[in-house]
Amino acid sequence: MALEQYNKKRRFSETPEPEGKLEREEQHRFVVQKHRASHLHYDFRLEMDGVLKSWAVPKGPSLDPGDKRLAMQVEDHPVSYFHFEGKIPEGNYGAGTVMVWDTGTWKPLGDEHAMLNKGDLKFQLNGEKLKGEFVLAKMRSRRPGSKGTEWLLIKKKDDAMKPGFNIDKLDYSVLTKRSLNEIAGDEGSDEWQSNRKAGGRTVRKGAEWLQSSGNRKTQKQEPEVNKKRKSPSTPRKKTSVKKKTRKAA
Ligand code: MN
Repeated sequence: MALEQYNKKRRFSETPEPEGKLEREEQHRFVVQKHRASHLHYDFRLEMDGVLKSWAVPKGPSLDPGDKRLAMQVEDHPVSYFHFEGKIPEGNYGAGTVMVWDTGTWKPLGDEHAMLNKGDLKFQLNGEKLKGEFVLAKMRSRRPGSKGTEWLLIKKKDDAMKPGFNIDKLDYSVLTKRSLNEIAGDEGSDEWQSNRKAGGRTVRKGAEWLQSSGNRKTQKQEPEVNKKRKSPSTPRKKTSVKKKTRKAA
């Protein structure tokens, strides 16, 4: 199952994120989500084979061909994640604020499966902010301890390139025009409202992909919080797992 990992990491009684299901109708859409979890990063997702192939890009994509942006491949996400914008409550995987930073369509420049397997995925984007040709190139020289999930996202030289591109000047949602702070503070955002407090397990902040990229000093251990779960009307499937280490991504 392509989305097994995605579903395993999340408790859908607590997070507003959608449950992972395979999409039947294949379209070639892409989404970039700006995600302030334990670290600010951008999630770059391409629709392929009924899921969203996903990479976490710490500095975000760039329209400057001189920028080589580290992109850590993460688990496939469901296509219904496409328009997810809002807040993931504390204590949940990836807790923080999510903005739909850009959306549009993508076109593989060759056989997408062959290019993905080869680690040399060339494609064209037609979004609001991102346009033109890009390449996702898998890195061959791996650092010790690396999981082999490191790619580089690079803009190709074409009419859509913008040397000196500054992503911080584009802090708005293409869906709602809100800034990340506005989404974080907006009551109307897609937050799961609850009087339950997450906790009762070890919550570890600091993403695996950041650890594997050598950024270990940013890893933090959060203290355990006592949990009172009121009337679990939605029973959890994995009650046998009492303690779980969760990592933000
Ligand atoms: Mn993320």
